Amino acid sequence: MARKILLVICDGLGDRPSAALGGKTPLQAASKPGIDRIAASAMHGLLYTIAPGVTPGSDTSHLSLLGYDPLGIYTGRGPFEAAGIGLKMKPGDVAFRCNFATVDSSRVVVDRRAGRIGEPDTGELASLLPEVEIDGAQVRFRESTEHRCVVVISGDGLGSSVTDTDPGVTGRPIQLASGLDEPSSRTAAILNKFTNMVIEKFSGSHVNRKRMEKGLPSANAIIARGGGVYPDIEPFDRKHGMSFGAVAAEGLILGICRVLGGEVVTPKGATATMETDLMAKGRAAVEMLGRKDFVLLHVKPTDIAGHDGNAAGKVEMIERADRMVDYIISSCSGELVFAITGDHSTPVSAKQHTCDPVPLMIHSGGLRSDGISSFDEISAGRGSLSSLRGLELMPLLMGYADRNEKYGA
Ligand code: ZN
Ligand code: ZN
Repeated sequence: MARKILLVICDGLGDRPSAALGGKTPLQAASKPGIDRIAASAMHGLLYTIAPGVTPGSDTSHLSLLGYDPLGIYTGRGPFEAAGIGLKMKPGDVAFRCNFATVDSSRVVVDRRAGRIGEPDTGELASLLPEVEIDGAQVRFRESTEHRCVVVISGDGLGSSVTDTDPGVTGRPIQLASGLDEPSSRTAAILNKFTNMVIEKFSGSHVNRKRMEKGLPSANAIIARGGGVYPDIEPFDRKHGMSFGAVAAEGLILGICRVLGGEVVTPKGATATMETDLMAKGRAAVEMLGRKDFVLLHVKPTDIAGHDGNAAGKVEMIERADRMVDYIISSCSGELVFAITGDHSTPVSAKQHTCDPVPLMIHSGGLRSDGISSFDEISAGRGSLSSLRGLELMPLLMGYADRNEKYGA
């Protein structure tokens, strides 16, 4: 009988030996009795989530792990960010991820996050220009989390090969967007016009007058990056023949799962920060496994600790994830294919994503066991799964869940 599948992805999980941990990786240094108990009767391997030598982003790697070749569908992060805040889009729409920013009278960016502006100011500003028409295209504008916002352009003849208006640093002016081909040039012209409208509208706004009275930087502009076209994509349930749900809190991952047609749940207390309530996520995953064939559980802060160079924080997040996994496994009835991995490595020594493969462990009743008692990067290299690419994960999980079709007679 077909088994259900739970895939736990700890963001940026993979690491390198850390001096702060006596030469161990955070996974080696963490006390994780729950995961290691499963490890003893599991199969292990190393996963290149895109391909050897490629340093993955979280978006491209998640697409790959879920069985979608990012090379065919990924043009930029914008559409997934927009989907993450619930904006409805259709194939061909072009979306940008933006920041509310502060510029001087010469449009030089003096604060890329407008003093880390957030709600309610961002919502009030976005409501000044929720939807406008420019050059026959529809432009929608919404606030996102913290200082972020999104711009979605819908219409005929659009392209997404558009340069960023975000200069990436302070002290430089907002860049003029340009397109690499004719449809993208049309998109770039619309984005430039919209940027002008925003600057005109925001400068004298009630919100900014109030902010200046309080001594806060004025959010008088937006800067855009990560333009991408909303992909024409086969929904997960049709592609893999399984119902799909995800427990996540980060906008980007929520967006990816929504674009793939999955049900997404963010339980109360679950966030994309170190303060997240992982047990709430565990309970939500158990509930979801009762009604979905395939559940993705995403844990963000392992990546945050990696970016911050915080070895102790990464160890702590792994130990908290261990208690969550232990709870899920002890609460699930019926046969389950359980897999845990990362979407890429974010070593605390590098403070950024690297091309190092991530450890992968797959467990289900009655399968082979590698006799490896610890789930970590070094032990995984001795496992029977050896090294795999991200796109090979879904077929493998489906095979072990008795959900694949026999090839041949
Ligand atoms: Zn990631
Ligand atoms: Zn990251």
